[in-house]
Amino acid sequence: MEQIAVFVLGLIFGSFANVIVFRLNTGESLIFGGSRCFYCGRNLRWFELIPVVSFLALRGKCRSCGSKISWQYPAVELASGALFLLLWSEPGSYQLGKSPALTITAVLFFWLLLVISVYDIRHKIIPNPLVYFAILTAVLFLGFVNWNLMDNLKLIIENLAAGFGLFLFFGVLWFVSGGRWMGFGDAKLALALGIMLGWPLSLAAFFMSFWLGALLGLLYKFSNRSAGFKTQMPFAPFLSAGGLAAYLWGEKIIFWYLSLL
Ligand SMILES: [Zn+2]
Repeated sequence: MEQIAVFVLGLIFGSFANVIVFRLNTGESLIFGGSRCFYCGRNLRWFELIPVVSFLALRGKCRSCGSKISWQYPAVELASGALFLLLWSEPGSYQLGKSPALTITAVLFFWLLLVISVYDIRHKIIPNPLVYFAILTAVLFLGFVNWNLMDNLKLIIENLAAGFGLFLFFGVLWFVSGGRWMGFGDAKLALALGIMLGWPLSLAAFFMSFWLGALLGLLYKFSNRSAGFKTQMPFAPFLSAGGLAAYLWGEKIIFWYLSLL
């Protein structure tokens, strides 16, 4: 029962994620103003806004003009639902089970990363308000983990150093490539991840995101031979996926990796 509630809450947050991806920087309000069909402009009724269910019931088409509704809507909603459920049921490297404040902060952090990833795929940019909010959430998380500030000063400094280390690395990539390999937004996102994960999980996240990016980049290149190197691949989805994997299973992954050496 609890799991179903968490999943449904995730679906609803997924709906909100779609709103942010489509409306941020358009000047439209994120909270006020109903949703409309992109093509005929008709306002959608409440029963057309139920996550996933409405999309299936309408068979992915607008009720009045018959235009196709982007599959991004149900995909993001499902991803968000799955993310909530995963973070709720897996204790993760920090053993969150004990503290609701930690769990909520972690869920918020990775939900923001999901929004950033979808935004990056769609618009090829990471919006500042979202990534600053993610950095703030990571700092808050770090504060919750190390409630006795003085006892845990070393850990806090380590996490901040991991964040700035990753930030510097991505910042240098951004600078020397003139923004072609990496955007400056990726550097800010790396800062958030470093603060959240600390050492050595940051390093695990970093390597996983590069391996994943290289693998999918190659697949993409082989499937679109004409695209060549010109097509810019958004990197936020890889950073986010690597970060989530490191957060949930980082210690196991590091042990497994070390056992191969
Ligand atoms: Zn329509």
